[in-house]
Amino acid sequence: MNNLLIGALILLLIALGWSLWRYFALRRAVDTFTRTIQQLDTQAFSPEDTPTDFPELEPLSNAIHSLAVTQAERRNSESAERDRLEATLNQMTDGVLIVDALGRIQMANPAANELFSENGSLVGKTISVALRHHQLIETWRKCQQTHEMQSESVDLSATRKFLQIIAIPDEHASGAILLIQDLTRIRRLETVRRDFISNVSHELRTPLASLKALTETLQEGALDDPAAAPRFLGRILIEVDALTQMAAELLELSRIESGQVLLARKPLRPIQLLNSAADRMKMQADRAGLDVRVECPEQLPPINADLPRLEQVLVNLIHNAVKFTPPGGEVTLSAQADGANVRFTVRDTGCGIPSDDLPRIFERFYRVDRSRAGGGTGLGLSIARHLVEAHAGKIWAESREGEGSAFYLTIPCMPIAETK
Ligand code: ADP
Repeated sequence: MNNLLIGALILLLIALGWSLWRYFALRRAVDTFTRTIQQLDTQAFSPEDTPTDFPELEPLSNAIHSLAVTQAERRNSESAERDRLEATLNQMTDGVLIVDALGRIQMANPAANELFSENGSLVGKTISVALRHHQLIETWRKCQQTHEMQSESVDLSATRKFLQIIAIPDEHASGAILLIQDLTRIRRLETVRRDFISNVSHELRTPLASLKALTETLQEGALDDPAAAPRFLGRILIEVDALTQMAAELLELSRIESGQVLLARKPLRPIQLLNSAADRMKMQADRAGLDVRVECPEQLPPINADLPRLEQVLVNLIHNAVKFTPPGGEVTLSAQADGANVRFTVRDTGCGIPSDDLPRIFERFYRVDRSRAGGGTGLGLSIARHLVEAHAGKIWAESREGEGSAFYLTIPCMPIAETK
């Protein structure tokens, strides 16, 4: 009887021990599953991570595994999308700001930082500190109040920028997304284009009106007047020549501006350039009673230039000098070393240019005094500036009214290695 009791007791103890062991093993397994599920968002999962001594838990382990696979795929695609978005925002030329409900900047792309920040990032700053312009801030405020998209074009006179701001409500964070486009260049081009068209039509009107008046006069009887007819025909020829010259210069200007004129640059001695330009203009200067002189040291370094194009620049300048200098005057062409450049000068003793007009003479169609312009189109200096800039040079003028003018241009010298 006693033996039976002891046996039963031992069996009971074994059963209790086994149950306790299973209980703790199950606890461990549950803990592992709990930890695994908690970490699914951040960590990869493999079925080996979950205990295998409970075949009953295998379906649960499999379910967690497929959940983990889905989660990992979602994480990958989210991170790829984030990378793509970040790359897009970084490369965008438009500024993008994400602003929270209190007006604090949460995200700013490089273009936005470049537009508004003098140093460092805009993140963490308030919108009023960052944008510093009431119209820009007002656009954001309106978007916050109405929860509707707002758009505004703003002229920043301090920085001479023309911006367009678009504020879009950010429903998730009760804030706003601001898109800022810098339209300064586009607006400038539009102005140039508008001015150009109005200038061209204005310039065409005068010679066309003259041609019409001259032909009408001929039709009305002047044709039969042997004294008047050749005079009118001569004036028609002058107007047609002026129109032809304008068409040729406009075409040249548009070809240069659109980059269609390719320079054939070669080593060129400054004296060679000055002499060949002076030779071409000599007869015209003689006829105008002007003396043309060339002053150029022999030992100047060669420049890297397209001879016909640069000669065209000098011829334009000499042509003006001849046109605006009274008989008996002098036109001097010279060249001298100027750092890594050679500086060319065309100086005259003519009527000079008023100081108010001086900064504008290189603009297309700009003429100081149309009555004294001597039939010019106002395009010559504009063409000269483009050609000099295509040579990586600079052109400018100095003048005193009544005393004469000097036009300067600098052209880089040939690099020493290339001249040998
Ligand atoms: P244009 O064909 O009328 O000469 P440019 O572009 O060459 O056109 O010159 C623009 C204007 O600059 C001229 O109309 C003239 O008023 C002024 N200008 C240019 N060169 C001289 C100069 N050497 N002396 C006085 N005025 C000049």
